[in-house]
Amino acid sequence: MFLEVNNLVKKYQTGKVTFQALKNTSFTMEQGQIGVILGPSGSGKSTLLNIIGGIDYADQGRVSVGGIEITQMSDKQLTEYRRSSVGFVFQFYNLIPNLTVYENIEVSSNITKDSIKIDEMLEAVGMKEFRDRFPRELSGGQQQRVSIARALIKKPKLLFCDEPTGALDYNTSKEILKLLQEVNRKYHTTILIITHNNAIAGIAHRKLRLRSGEIVEDMLNENVVSAE
Ligand code: ADP
Ligand code: ADP
Repeated sequence: MFLEVNNLVKKYQTGKVTFQALKNTSFTMEQGQIGVILGPSGSGKSTLLNIIGGIDYADQGRVSVGGIEITQMSDKQLTEYRRSSVGFVFQFYNLIPNLTVYENIEVSSNITKDSIKIDEMLEAVGMKEFRDRFPRELSGGQQQRVSIARALIKKPKLLFCDEPTGALDYNTSKEILKLLQEVNRKYHTTILIITHNNAIAGIAHRKLRLRSGEIVEDMLNENVVSAE
């Protein structure tokens, strides 16, 4: 199995109070799938995504990606994993304001400083003609397209999207979803999306629902054909 998450436990300590954000959270995902993580605010969705993405640590449990256990990695290996294997897309795009569209992607592609590849990627997300603009000169949907290009330039095996349409209107959200579907089909990128939007679940092969740090629903959507 491409992604294996086994019995994750994550606790947060605030003063004397310990809060358990994840309780024995387990699931698996095949390569090329789009999975959505649903669940109320505070149910542990971001915590789960951040641990799988190597930007937070679990207290217990294992995560393996492509047969490699990331929960056993040294800091150095984890940095390399984040840099080369995973991409992140956030609700508020997180673009660097004083860099152009092109430069925002260039700083992320520290492995390949290849202008043809960057332009190809901008074309793939429909943003080539905006390459010299600054983020403030773009709409929310356009900024999200750039942030998707920035994540993809590293050719990640896994793409994590934390509320990617949370700040967008209905129609723009649909366009961003369509783009994520195209990415999944074209590059066979495995995508995990956190969302509050039930409509997004319609495009996913997998639907996971978290409640108080536990997976309470794990559904395969037979109607969506996997990229592999
Ligand atoms: P979701 O993404 O589903 O909204 P989170 O994973 O962000 O949930 O948070 C799960 C729970 O863990 C929440 O109750 C939140 O308050 C708590 N939490 C998250 N991060 C921290 C932190 N750094 N310190 C203390 N508590 C945290
Ligand atoms: P196609 O067969 O659709 O032409 P290619 O594999 O030839 O796709 O790649 C087209 C472009 O996309 C190239 O610039 C390549 O570097 C880039 N690319 C390929 N695989 C990925 C990936 N997994 N994630 C992001 N970009 C990729």
